[in-house]
Amino acid sequence: MDLVRDESGVPLNGQTAGVLITNTGWIVPIIATTADGWQVWTPCGRTADLTEGRVVESADFVIDAGHGGSRESGAVGPGGLREADLNLQVALKIRDALVGAGYSVIMTRETDVRVPIVTRGEIAQALDPVANISIHFNAGTDAGSADPGTEMYHQIESSESKRLAGLMYEEVFATLDGYDINWVSLSDAGAMSRPNRSGGDYYGVLRRPGPVTSVLVEFGYISNRAEEELYADPVVQQQLAAATLRAVDRLVHTTDPGSGFTADPMFRGYGPSGAGRTDDCVDPKLQ
Ligand SMILES: [Zn+2]
Repeated sequence: MDLVRDESGVPLNGQTAGVLITNTGWIVPIIATTADGWQVWTPCGRTADLTEGRVVESADFVIDAGHGGSRESGAVGPGGLREADLNLQVALKIRDALVGAGYSVIMTRETDVRVPIVTRGEIAQALDPVANISIHFNAGTDAGSADPGTEMYHQIESSESKRLAGLMYEEVFATLDGYDINWVSLSDAGAMSRPNRSGGDYYGVLRRPGPVTSVLVEFGYISNRAEEELYADPVVQQQLAAATLRAVDRLVHTTDPGSGFTADPMFRGYGPSGAGRTDDCVDPKLQ
């Protein structure tokens, strides 16, 4: 097959047909069927032949818990809460809420493992969902605020991505705004897109899924002690999952445009974060 490669030569293996849930719990895009199984893309972007696993050909939604594994904790709160762990806790509750409402859901990871960004994008492309939602918590400002600093990033070229970001912003902001704590926020928090140097989407989790409607969720700031304590509460996590389900329901069943849109930030010359790279990637045991 012909590989589509991005500007840095990384294959964008979008021409896959579903994913395989391996018997060691990995979710890998299928390239082709073989005489006794499947050829798949490994999490590190290599090919492998597998004989065991469960095929999933499509999903209504892909839920992507950001970061993961010992080398990619994401942000870490002042009390030691790892963003990767919090992302997964909330993402699992979002999956359960969506499944409970009748949607089919595949996650890019279900445990504390490293999944490169390229693989997250391939999983989304392979399943062609209504939307791919990437779950994160933020760090990096200590500017006090009366309101939550929730940020939702949408794909520049996708009106459905923009709509979902606006709906997610409404539902999540309203949920968090019910708590009277010392928030932090950037002054331009809201729903927005963020361009890279060439005008494409800066974030790989929005760029690599290609045509799949995708949104990057930054619920709030894990780096703020008051918020770290709030988000660690399973009751609050459940409320964030319920807010996500309401936004998803409105995406599917209404033409509501969403709100909270702010001006896109300027490209400020950020280099690659190193998150989700594959150059030193060691593949796990897949079966
Ligand atoms: Zn993150």
